[in-house]
Amino acid sequence: MGKREQIFTYRNYINGEWVVPDNASVADNINPANGEVLGQVVQSTTKDVHAAVKAAKEAQKNWRLVPAPERGELLYAIGQLLKERKEHLARTLTQEMGKVLTEARGEVQEAIDMAFYMAGEGRRLAGQTVPAEMPNKHAMSVRSPVGVVGIITPWNFPIAIATWKMFPALVAGNTVVWKPATDTPAMAYETVKILEEAGVPKGVVNLVYGSGAAVGDALVEHPDVNVISFTGSTEVGKHIAGKAGSLLKKVSLEMGGKNAIIVMDDADLNLAVDGIIWSAFGTSGQRCTACSRVIVHRHIRDELEERLLERTKQLTLGNGLDETVDVGPVITQFALQRIHEYVKIGILEGANPLCGGKIANDGELSKGYYYQPTIFTDVNPSMRIAQEEIFGPVLSIIPVESFDEAIQVNNNVAYGLSSAIFTQDVNRVFKAMRDLDSGLVYINAGTIGAEIHLPFGGIKQTGNGHRDSGLASLDVFTEWKSIYVDY
Ligand code: GLU
Repeated sequence: MGKREQIFTYRNYINGEWVVPDNASVADNINPANGEVLGQVVQSTTKDVHAAVKAAKEAQKNWRLVPAPERGELLYAIGQLLKERKEHLARTLTQEMGKVLTEARGEVQEAIDMAFYMAGEGRRLAGQTVPAEMPNKHAMSVRSPVGVVGIITPWNFPIAIATWKMFPALVAGNTVVWKPATDTPAMAYETVKILEEAGVPKGVVNLVYGSGAAVGDALVEHPDVNVISFTGSTEVGKHIAGKAGSLLKKVSLEMGGKNAIIVMDDADLNLAVDGIIWSAFGTSGQRCTACSRVIVHRHIRDELEERLLERTKQLTLGNGLDETVDVGPVITQFALQRIHEYVKIGILEGANPLCGGKIANDGELSKGYYYQPTIFTDVNPSMRIAQEEIFGPVLSIIPVESFDEAIQVNNNVAYGLSSAIFTQDVNRVFKAMRDLDSGLVYINAGTIGAEIHLPFGGIKQTGNGHRDSGLASLDVFTEWKSIYVDY
């Protein structure tokens, strides 16, 4: 038997069974660190989505009646299993997605935190009781489940983002049909295995692998799917919003970012350099929250650039399973080329490359998809590299004259996910907290590293007002029901 015949095929999970769709085609699951084929994943069709939605709809009839504390306890059991398997999950994540092990462990920890956080919510799910206007009347509101939830998740945080959506949906009494990204099937498989083992009843969570065009669209269009929660590109998000809008379907969108770190002339530069390096090159720049712009006060620009350059040159590129590596590969060959196109655009626009700017292909690196951490300086805020999301390790430095100009440059982009400022002036801190136009604001820290207890998401082209994580996520997965009782 050839090696290819032995490799694992990731199958759908529908109504509590692991199933292969009829006449299924398959896609390869590739390790971006070395191009190795890790497995194959089935590509489903509308028919599979319909079977999954049917199972979810049927299962919701009982699931909504399970007392919420009991649903929460199931999440607690899931949290325990995630904790026990943390190292295995992190290694699987690094292998199929490329982020370095320390970051993979951090991501799995987010899933663990979310499980325990939402487990507790099973004992709260609070509504309101208010004094009624009329005599002998009781007035209250309760959160009720929306029904069947369609979850569409990206490859850059294949377990964290899935759990930010799935756990609040489950604790609130909904059932789920999940379409994970095609590039990270193993993490979806491992996650659903854990849910199954913890005792999630059949039909309550269903997994359907496949493309956005086939599976994603079928989910969005299905009349029995009551909410769509999507994280991914703005382009796909708009497509989903268009379809969902015409069906009057509730939809939650978390999309791109063009996040900036402002460094004022009074900043602690050691802190700022750490924050910038980590936010720009962590996950090879493939976070929605990645810092792709540094807005720096002219007085300290030279010193900051020197220090950033020194630190960037020390970063080692390689397979993220090697614990001495700082920056792993990007997700695919296609992504690698796209990043390189942006670098060429930056050069044509007249930005000045300080380091990087090339596909890294020395020795072993040539087998994977590596891009050199890249810094441009003399970037004008209106250039495409300063306006468009690159989703790779490419950082633009934009010099400014004042705090007010820094805020204005920060805000003058289409996106509004994460912003950061380094300053020691308390007045500037509070003005920045008020005036930075984004869903997340960091003071004396980089643009990444959001925790799960607070709402996660952004404004403008980043999102449509809904949030993942925190209590705010319950608003996506519940409807308010106001109840009046006359007595
Ligand atoms: N948890 C990540 C962070 O705050 C963001 C997730 C994402 O990029 O989608 O850095």
